[in-house]
Parts: sequence; C-alpha cells; structure tokens
Amino acid sequence: MATKTTTALITGASAGLGAEFARQLAAQGHNLVLVARDRARLQETAAGLERRYGIRAEVLPADLTDDAGVAAVVGRLTAVESPVGVLVNNAGTGLLHKFEESHISAEKQHLKLHVESAMELTHAALQGMLERGSGRIINVSSIAAFLPRGTYAAAKAWLLSFSRSANVAYGPRGVKVTAVCPGFTHTEFHDRMGADKSVTPAWTWLTAERVVREGLADNLRGKAVSIPSKRYKAVAVAARVLPDRLLTGPARKAK
Ligand code: NAP
Repeated sequence: MATKTTTALITGASAGLGAEFARQLAAQGHNLVLVARDRARLQETAAGLERRYGIRAEVLPADLTDDAGVAAVVGRLTAVESPVGVLVNNAGTGLLHKFEESHISAEKQHLKLHVESAMELTHAALQGMLERGSGRIINVSSIAAFLPRGTYAAAKAWLLSFSRSANVAYGPRGVKVTAVCPGFTHTEFHDRMGADKSVTPAWTWLTAERVVREGLADNLRGKAVSIPSKRYKAVAVAARVLPDRLLTGPARKAK
C-alpha cells in the first residue's frame, strides 16, 4: 500500500514495538523522531536506521510520566518548520501487582504514561495535521482493552475508545487514527515488569514485526482498530458475549 513519506514521531522507540515501528517506518522512507528515556539506546537505534535506510533520525530523550518530558515532546510536535505527519503513541509499562497491592504512585504514573501523555501528544499533533489536511496517529492499545483486567486494561480501553471516536471525527478531515490492539508479543515488556512469561502458552505469542506491519497497514486503510491475528480477533468477539469471570485470563506471576 502506498505511503506518503513524512516525519514520524514514535514514543517508546528504544525497544520492542516502538523500535519496530521506527524500523518499518524508516524502511518506508520516513524521517524519524525517536522518544524514550534511554538516550544512548535511542542514539544507537537512530544511527543504525540512518545507515540502513538513508533517512534522518532525531532523538528526543523524555520521560513521559513527567510534565517536563511531555512538554518537550509537545514542543517538537508543534514545531511548524519541521512538521510531524505520523504520531505513534506507544511507550508503556505493565504493572505486576494486583490493584489493592500496587502503590498508588505507580498507578498514577502508569495512567499518566498510557493515557494522559498520549492524549496530550495527540492534541498537540492534531492541530497541524488538521491544518494540513493529512496525518496519521497510531495509539498502541492492547487486546486487554476488551477484557476486564485491572487498571492496565482500563487505560488501554481509554485509548481504544478515544481512537475510535477520533477516527470518525478526523478521518474525513484527512487524519487517520488507529488503536493497535496486540495480544502477548515478544518484546522487553514482561521482563521489565518482572513477570514470568512461561505462564502463557507459546501459541499465544506474536512477533513485533507482525503487530507493527498489520497496524501500519490498517492505519493506512483508515481502520480505527487493528487486532493482529485471527486468534486475537476471536478474543475480541468472545469478549462481547462471555461473562467477565471467564475473561480475566491467567493471573500475572512474578519471575
Ligand atoms: P518494551 O519492549 O518494554 O518497550 C517499552 C518502551 O517504552 C521502551 O522504549 C521504553 O523506553 C519506553 N518507556 C517506558 N516508560 C517510559 C517513560 N516513562 N517515558 C518514555 N518512554 C518510556 O514494551 P513493548 O511491548 O514494546 O510495549 C510497547 C507498547 O505495547 C506498550 O504501550 C504496551 O502496553 C503495549 N503492548 C504490549 C504487549 C506485549 O505483550 N508486549 C501487548 C499489548 C500491548 P525507555 O526505558 O528507554 O524509556
């Protein structure tokens, strides 16, 4: 499918799905702005992609749980001299503990990272996109958005609902908005959370390459929701009819 090359800003671009979004968008000829906290990893990723694909890649180290970090990224998204045509809100972390055992400060940071920062970055990017009559916004949600699975799923459900309404509102004005809803995907996510990956069977795992490839293609087609693989599409359908107690999935276990 044809893509118009422009600059893409990706949050959480130092690892996992974000690094793969950066790679596939670079392969399509987009210049990049890479956002995450780890400057050295971002620089290494940027240099590798510039060498391999002949694009330009900026790094913008920022902590998106922090107001100053979000403001720095808003500043880049609203820089009129170098417009951003693709925004990927991808940065995210998991929470290992049950809600009642989790520290409230960790919960607040988690909500800010997944919901508040994505909302603020979308609002900033949208202004220029609507003026230009073109843009693409991808919000990395999760299949958990369809399931009753604690505050992580609730945050992802916010992203899913918001993406659906934004795609209806802004699609006709040239801005395509998509929630990408992967199931278990091999990245650093579960290791960083300290979760034991062995409790989930091998067949449930997706590759980052597939999640991103399908997500980018669905966004270009103007789809509001991208669910990679038939097995996870079936989960989303089942979630509409099955009782909540059957949908909670395996409990998280520490490594
Ligand atoms: P990952 O490999 O752990 O990568 C997470 C990325 O987010 C890293 O680049 C990390 O970089 C960045 N990040 C974390 N906290 C940040 C902060 N406070 N400020 C800025 N950047 C931050 O995990 P992943 O699986 O690729 O996760 C990407 C997204 O996919 C997340 O939103 C996650 O919820 C979603 N998802 C993952 C799965 C899965 O099974 N893996 C399934 C469904 C949805 P730094 O540490 O350098 O900041």
